[in-house]
Amino acid sequence: MPERIYNFSPGPATLPYSVLQEAATDIVNYNDKGIGLIELSHRSKEFMAIADETDRLIRQLLGVPDNYKVLFLQGGASSQFFMIPMNLLGPGKKATYLNTGTWSKKAIKEAKLFGDIEVAYSSEDQSFNRVPTDGEYSVSEQSEYLYFVTNNTIYGTQFPHMPDKDTLLIADMSSDIFSRPVDVSKFGIIFAGAQKNMGPAGVTLVIIREDLLDRAAETVPTMLKYKTHADKDSMFNTPPCFPIYCVGRVMNWLKELGGIPGIEKINQEKAALLYSAIDSTDFYRGHAEKDSRSLMNVAFNLPTPELEAQFIAEAAAVGLDGLKGHRSIGGCRASIYNAFPREGVEKLVDFMADFAKNNG
Ligand SMILES: *Cc1c(COP(=O)(O)O)cnc(C)c1O
Repeated sequence: MPERIYNFSPGPATLPYSVLQEAATDIVNYNDKGIGLIELSHRSKEFMAIADETDRLIRQLLGVPDNYKVLFLQGGASSQFFMIPMNLLGPGKKATYLNTGTWSKKAIKEAKLFGDIEVAYSSEDQSFNRVPTDGEYSVSEQSEYLYFVTNNTIYGTQFPHMPDKDTLLIADMSSDIFSRPVDVSKFGIIFAGAQKNMGPAGVTLVIIREDLLDRAAETVPTMLKYKTHADKDSMFNTPPCFPIYCVGRVMNWLKELGGIPGIEKINQEKAALLYSAIDSTDFYRGHAEKDSRSLMNVAFNLPTPELEAQFIAEAAAVGLDGLKGHRSIGGCRASIYNAFPREGVEKLVDFMADFAKNNG
């Protein structure tokens, strides 16, 4: 393996090195067929097999029930912000949203174009440092669904449990899908951009319960109807072939690690190491309230913005890259998704102790 830096970027994010190697070989010559992976027709039997295997592994790892479709769409996770209400709402229809950060706020803005949106909870006035417990909000009976973001990538908060409400759940899982078990049967739609926890940018995974496919009005454009893509197994038009291939390889890597139970344990250990480093001194302050802490994105501050800038620069100089927090809250953020190696977290924790000693 060449010298690799530790990449704490929030997304596109670090991928398993073995997957990069496989992709590098296959791009040039796929399975010794004398043709490169990204030259294959999406209708070729080689690519159809890749797409089928990716679908099968996703279903197997996440336990997707048979009455759900797995779709590979384009337009980023952000296009789901409008596709969901465009397909499921309409004049007079209501939906409930939880405002726990930038990504939910953007989704709320789009949903308002298509229906009557109730924001049942917001942590905006405390700079999105927490997510609600079930008791802190209610969902009205007329609501078609409850929309929430399972992991708030920018603020480093995460729902420790999925909401337990008597309603259809719709979740943006862009930054924590495949990091912990999920009961898919509780959801109407789960979606995630690939570039945080699944692969490169360019494909959005949508898992949708089949009965929801028929809800869209006639006026919804063909490409924006879930049913269009479901009926053609995501081959209505040319799908993002290379990202789908990579997601398949990442799923295979995950399966070999023991699947979701295996990675969940590793994720818990990595996050515990980092949070205990933060909690062990007053020098570092975690952004999220303890009960809302994310195992994927750890956002923290130092005593001053000057020290934060120095910390980020010195860390980068020793191969700990991408620790700058999002511009909306500043500070530092370590994104430690599934593929982020434990040794990188250990190295960061050691660096943090030294930095606090030298500058505290
Ligand atoms: C990154 C992110 C998005 C946006 O994804 P795009 O693919 O860039 O549109 C949406 N939601 C969450 C939770 C994210 O982390």
